[in-house]
Amino acid sequence: MALFKKKNYIRINPNRGQLPTNEPVVPDNLWAKCPSCKRTLYTKEMGAEKVCPHCGYNFRISAWERIAITIDEKSFEEWDTDVTTKDPLDFPGYLDKVAQMQEKTGLHEAVLTGEAKVQGLPLAIGIMDANFIMGSMGTVVGEKITRLFERAIEKQLPVVLFTASGGARMQEGILSLMQMAKISAAVKRHSKAGLFYLTVLTDPTTGGVTASFAMEGDIILAEPQALIGFAGRRVIEQTIRQELPEDFQKAEFLLDHGFVDQIVPRTNLREKIHHLISLHTRKGWDRND
Ligand SMILES: [Zn+2]
Repeated sequence: MALFKKKNYIRINPNRGQLPTNEPVVPDNLWAKCPSCKRTLYTKEMGAEKVCPHCGYNFRISAWERIAITIDEKSFEEWDTDVTTKDPLDFPGYLDKVAQMQEKTGLHEAVLTGEAKVQGLPLAIGIMDANFIMGSMGTVVGEKITRLFERAIEKQLPVVLFTASGGARMQEGILSLMQMAKISAAVKRHSKAGLFYLTVLTDPTTGGVTASFAMEGDIILAEPQALIGFAGRRVIEQTIRQELPEDFQKAEFLLDHGFVDQIVPRTNLREKIHHLISLHTRKGWDRND
């Protein structure tokens, strides 16, 4: 009755490390469920870009993963890691939460900024990370993005900014909202200096980030199926007392309505960024001569 023997069955081991080493174990993060087509995927199938091979859904990735798939190897130099979060409202547990997030994500705030190269072309790059308190924009995020533009002006560099945010950071109240105007002014100075600004909207880009610098790019790209909006769907439905279309606030809907210039799958982004920078910067023209 070999049928009933269980020795070849693989099971998830809840007491890993405490049982003999020949015990079969299913490692963490081996499988993922696609939120779009609902299929279960072997994570290696998705590649470093983390794209669903069945429906093309772009999984959310961290800022460090974005660095790894976007820029030239070892070309990233991080800026402004010395800007520290304050707790202006004495919000209970806020600084502890920031410390926990730093530990968990390996980032010092919800945006990573610096200088890098994409296929040989230099640029200033900012990458927001939704894993860090929902990528919310507080004073440090605002200051780092402002400095990104200011230093890009000094160095005559284009800026590429990947947005991912739940909006302003409620723990810093009105000071978070003030970042919208501060960054927008820096974007304008960068533009007046004749420099190119490219935004890539990734899932999710919402709230004050959408209402300011995310939509101020000279060219605005988005990843497929990314959620992009200002207020949440339910808030809008209850305010206007109408039902919204199914794809409302998806990148594809925004493209149809003229808010986004192009939807670019993550696997083609690197190429696209290089192409756009080469068209819009002197360094790019020199290389193409
Ligand atoms: Zn899928």
